[in-house]
This record gives sequence, C-alpha cells and structure tokens, in this order.
Amino acid sequence: MKVVSSKEDLTEIIDQLKAKKNSIGFVPTMGALHDGHLSLVERGFKDNSIMVVSIFVNPTQFDNKKDLDKYPRNLESDIKLLKKVSKDKIIVYAPTVEDIYGASVSSVSFSFDGLENEMEGKFRKGHFDGVGTIVKRLFEIVQPEFAYFGEKDFQQLQIIRKLVEKQHLNVKIIGCKIHREASGLAMSSRNSRLKKEYLEAAPFIYKTLNEAKKKFRKMSAQKVTKWVEAQFAKHELLKLEYFNIANVKSLKTLKRKSPKQKYRAFIAVFADDIRLIDNIALN
Ligand code: AMP
Repeated sequence: MKVVSSKEDLTEIIDQLKAKKNSIGFVPTMGALHDGHLSLVERGFKDNSIMVVSIFVNPTQFDNKKDLDKYPRNLESDIKLLKKVSKDKIIVYAPTVEDIYGASVSSVSFSFDGLENEMEGKFRKGHFDGVGTIVKRLFEIVQPEFAYFGEKDFQQLQIIRKLVEKQHLNVKIIGCKIHREASGLAMSSRNSRLKKEYLEAAPFIYKTLNEAKKKFRKMSAQKVTKWVEAQFAKHELLKLEYFNIANVKSLKTLKRKSPKQKYRAFIAVFADDIRLIDNIALN
C-alpha cells in the first residue's frame, strides 16, 4: 500500500494512474479508522479502480482545542485496517498540517446558503468553514472523480454537496449509509475514548431515535422533540445537547409536516466530555 505525506508525491502517483485510465475515488477522513470508514472505501470500489483515503486531523474544524488534542491518532493501525479492503489499490494520503496549510492555519469563510447556521453550525462555531476549507483543498490536490461521505455527518454531507454546486467543483458526491455497532451505536472514532459505563449507555441514543421515528408518524415534530428531551432529562449519564427534526434539504427545523417533504431527526449528546452525534431518516 502506498502511503504518502506530501501533495507533490501524491499528485505524481495520481497523474500516472490517470494516464493509465484509472478512475480515482476519494474518502477524506480524520483517521482512527473503523468499519464505518471502511464501508465508504468499499462503496468507492464499485465506481473506481483506485481509492485515495486521506488521514488528516484538520485543526481548523475544531472549535475546542481539547477535543483537537485528544482526537485519537494511529496511522499504523489505520493502514492495517485499510489493507483488509485492498493491499494495492488504496493510496493513503497522510499529510502534515504544513503540507495542507503552509504557514497560515486558517479557514476560508463560506456561505452554504444557511445550511451552515443550523444544528452543528450553532453549537460548533466556525466548524463548517473549517470543513469547507479542508475538503475543497483536498479535492484540488486529489482531483477525484467521485468522493464518498457518510450520512453519519448528514449536515456535513449536504454542505459538501452545496460546496461542490456553488464552487463548480468537478467531483460527484456519494452519500453512504450509517454503519453501526451491533448495539445500534453509530460507529465513530470518538467511541474509542468512551469509558465502559458510557459505552454501555450510548446505544440509548439510537434506541431513542428509533422510538422518535415511530412517534413521528402520529405526533407533531414539537411533541416528539419534547418527548426526546424528557427521556434524556431522566438519563443519568447522557446529556442531550440538541434534538432537532429538520427538512433534509434546508436543514431547517420542521414547523408543519408536508407529505411531499423528507425529514430527519438529528441529535447531539455528551457522554462524559465526549460529544456524539447521530441521525435517522423519518419518512
Ligand atoms: P471522520 O474521520 O469522522 O471525519 O469521518 C470521515 C468520513 O467517514 C465522513 O464522511 C463520515 O461521515 C464518515 N463516517 C464516519 N463514521 C461513519 C459511520 N459510522 N458510518 C458511515 N460513515 C461514517
């Protein structure tokens, strides 16, 4: 498996592969890989002969320095996991902060037509400017035909689609299903930091999302939201940051249901000091 840390090396390899008519798919990640990430890479091999996986903990998308410092990093075990998918058709791009940002580690300011002001945007200031900056930069370096993003970060997925549309980027974005533990807990790099009791408590998040989905058939979004808030108010370990039922296109909070629109429920929860997010399609 080729592992490169400079954009010049990566570009040289990609140019050679493209000259041989390979199609290049791309999965950007922050490492600490798990089966959720691998499912994106596997999905990518349906459309592409070569997959590039970037592993880069992007400093500009963290609003919390402690979260950035504690983010799990383990390149060796990431490479081992990727080898399970393919030994010779994956290129790992693991750049340094300098290779990406040069001397100025800062983000560009974007407008995503308001998508950036909802949910994660409200609770993590500047987060989506950081995401937009890194993803645009990585697209310029990798120049993939397809890029794969998880619905686990559904708001991010919609923002990337908007980024591509507004900046006229030449890449097709494919959204991929959420990969879960047998317990229902959405796989996340952050799960590895959960202490035992919190790891055992965390499946409550997806269980509650499923119950909310059932209730949504008969109840208003406001009533379902109140019900979810009450469930977490009673919970001894998990602290709800937000639960929100929103339109999948605008990401705006649902006021009145329309049979023509698609909705999702979005949730952010603190388990100890670890922030977990999840979402579920409601109709
Ligand atoms: P991250 O390394 O957390 O930045 O994630 C990299 C990509 O993997 C993003 O597109 C995520 O949405 C996706 N991803 C993370 N966890 C999962 C999961 N459990 N299922 C599907 N995709 C995921």
